Amino acid sequence: MVLKRRIIQLVIFLALTVLTQIGGVIYLLALLVCSAFSLRRWYARLLVFAVFYAAGTVSSNFVAPSFGRVPLPCFSGETDTLTVRSGLFCLLNRNYVTPSMRDLAMALADAMNRKFPGTTTVVLDGNFPFVNGFPLLPHISHSDGRKLDIAFYYQDADGNYIDQATRSPLGYFAFEQPTKGDEQPCAGRDDILTTRWELEWLQPAFGDYELEEKRTAFAIQWLSGTGVERFNLEKIFIEPHLRDRLHVKGHAIRFQGCRAARHDDHIHIQVR
Ligand SMILES: [Zn+2]
Repeated sequence: MVLKRRIIQLVIFLALTVLTQIGGVIYLLALLVCSAFSLRRWYARLLVFAVFYAAGTVSSNFVAPSFGRVPLPCFSGETDTLTVRSGLFCLLNRNYVTPSMRDLAMALADAMNRKFPGTTTVVLDGNFPFVNGFPLLPHISHSDGRKLDIAFYYQDADGNYIDQATRSPLGYFAFEQPTKGDEQPCAGRDDILTTRWELEWLQPAFGDYELEEKRTAFAIQWLSGTGVERFNLEKIFIEPHLRDRLHVKGHAIRFQGCRAARHDDHIHIQVR
């Protein structure tokens, strides 16, 4: 019985650690406090964990900068030009980047809003707040604060830009499909060890927004120019067929390889 309970606790600890980084340690702390105060009812224990987790998540915003990572803003006001896709990213501590990445993201958002007034740049997964080498699954490389995913910009079927809209609720997996003559370096491969998921069954679930090509192309070209020259941007990952469709160029624009996730649903960037 005790062994079974320990195994369940271990699974919860691991799941919380993988999902939120700090959640596993906070869970152990909550278990200790609950046993010290003989709290046995499940809802009392859950409440203790929730309070500790909330405190840990809020404190990370203030502690992480001492370890070289800063949070990107989860709640945007009227005048903000950058926002994280969903509060869920922040609740799970996935919105941390190095200060230089934050400066780059903020500068991109400002440049976008100057060129296209009323445009908010939406960012997706960053990194966890602490420890280099701790990956933010399923993105293996988001482990050092230097990586950030940016959502595409979208328009409705009539071609009107919709601010802060993404085709999928979390900004991922709504793929822009290549057409017949496009360059498709991974066509015909059947890798087993890959995070290049096609998710064909999921595609019909997404809204029918279209890629807003002018803004998306401008953002990538800005990153490839000013981003590289002034903000130490090192790499931009998008699929070759999108690079060609958007007519964007630059040595930082790369293809991520066939074992990594598809990059025709979002832009991945990294700084030096
Ligand atoms: Zn990424």
